[in-house]
Amino acid sequence: MFIIFGTRYRTVRDNEAAPLTTRCAHCQQIVQLEPVKTRNYFALFFVPLIPLGQGTPAYRCPNCKTKFAR
Ligand SMILES: [Zn+2]
Repeated sequence: MFIIFGTRYRTVRDNEAAPLTTRCAHCQQIVQLEPVKTRNYFALFFVPLIPLGQGTPAYRCPNCKTKFAR
């Protein structure tokens, strides 16, 4: 049996920050940008288990999924 482990990036919703309604610079739609955090996880069998580090805060456009630095 093989044990497969590594790291995976995961984008999770940041509930501590407020959404931002603006025009998306990528798809040009007026959207409510979601506050998210991109975090590196220790993963076992491709399942993210343990968060590594604090994560990078960002906004994500719900329309085109583009992420913007926050
Ligand atoms: Zn967009």
